[in-house]
Amino acid sequence: MSKSNRPNANPQTCSTKDLHYITSDKPVFSCKNCSIVIGLQDELCSKGFTGGSGRAFLINSTINTNLGKKEERKLITGTHTCADLLCASCGSSLGWKYLKTPSDDQKYKENRFILEQAKIVKENNW
Ligand SMILES: [Zn+2]
Repeated sequence: MSKSNRPNANPQTCSTKDLHYITSDKPVFSCKNCSIVIGLQDELCSKGFTGGSGRAFLINSTINTNLGKKEERKLITGTHTCADLLCASCGSSLGWKYLKTPSDDQKYKENRFILEQAKIVKENNW
């Protein structure tokens, strides 16, 4: 085998497409674009948030999501370090994750996720 000029391996794009499906009848949030489940409504922390496009939910955990670039956002409550939250299936933007918050009274948001209501579907399986 001769040496080929391989492009540099790009570790940032080597995520495996490991998607999860919820088979139970728990109420879930799913991606508005591709309908994959992105979180359990059980994990919901607060509904009183405002995102870029209106109402948003704060949730403890998500599934089938990827994080985008880390960035600092200046909010009314101070400078937060956030990363975009993207659907792992279709790549749509769903909201963001709080990585670092400016003060103790904001700390409850750290490592939690904002889901923008306009980007997701709330599915109630009665
Ligand atoms: Zn999607």
